[in-house]
Amino acid sequence: MNFTEIKEIKDKIMSGYEITRDEALKLSEGGHIEALYYSANQLRAKFCGFRFEMCSMFNVSSGVCEEDCHWCPLSKNSSIDYASMVNFNLDKTIERIIQLREKGVRRIELSAKGRALDDKQLDEMIEYFNVIGEKCDIGLCASLGTLSYEQLKRLKNETKVVRYHCNIETSERFYPQVCSTIDIHDKYRTLLDAQKVGFQACSGGIIGMGETMEDRIDMALKLRELGVNSISLNILFAFNGTPFEKQQIPGSQEILTTFALFRFINPRAQIRFARGRSLIKIIEKDALQAGINASAVGEILVAAKSTDIDNDINVFKSEGFIL
Ligand code: SF4
Repeated sequence: MNFTEIKEIKDKIMSGYEITRDEALKLSEGGHIEALYYSANQLRAKFCGFRFEMCSMFNVSSGVCEEDCHWCPLSKNSSIDYASMVNFNLDKTIERIIQLREKGVRRIELSAKGRALDDKQLDEMIEYFNVIGEKCDIGLCASLGTLSYEQLKRLKNETKVVRYHCNIETSERFYPQVCSTIDIHDKYRTLLDAQKVGFQACSGGIIGMGETMEDRIDMALKLRELGVNSISLNILFAFNGTPFEKQQIPGSQEILTTFALFRFINPRAQIRFARGRSLIKIIEKDALQAGINASAVGEILVAAKSTDIDNDINVFKSEGFIL
């Protein structure tokens, strides 16, 4: 699309219009990409302002996971034992959360492996959230798989958790190529149930698993349809030993275009760098001017390197954001 066409669509979105799939596809086809990024940034400024949110993620489960998510180092598919690297300790986690809060991190997520939890495991998670909630002044998020409506209701009623996370990972079309043991429809149901019981919904997926731009657009549209207002975008970290170990990272322009399209499709959402940000350091500042307005920092789950939070803060501030 040329400059004028992109601007026209952006202006319509500014007035409340929801972009169609065909329009998103046309935007993805190239043309004036600088205008696309610039317009995505304007949409972010209009609907979300300059507030930037940092969060950190802690993995609480140990042992190999029985699911077969091809990207995941904890999966039974991985030929390397990453699972033994997970060593959750509640007291140490609390100490670390207090440090992160002092740096400006506003929420933390506890994440459990597997498709879902049984009621005993949920009891344990509720206990963790309550101890952390008592000792730390920080927003709490949970990522505990495809919990049932009743389990979500318990989590809501018995803890201070405010946001429930469940990635849909990719489009419905491409999903069978990346996981065969968890039903994507159950993820959709979880996100809707989470909102019904009063949680904010957080979801997203992974860029670089071999999906097309059309798949990414379909994922963004699905997130909009599901009412997700916190979107996490990961770049595939191709762990050795996983089925995706040889997968190449998409080019910089493709990644930036993806971020911008997510902003066009979900103008009001918090759109977050999640895992894999270290792989795209070279375009990090460009991405912050193409629609991104949140980031995972510090601890970002198993085997992904922890980020240098002081450096992160400098970068976010240098791009005009308020933490
Ligand atoms: S992503 Fe979660 S459910 Fe899938 S294999 Fe990894 S730990 Fe298990």
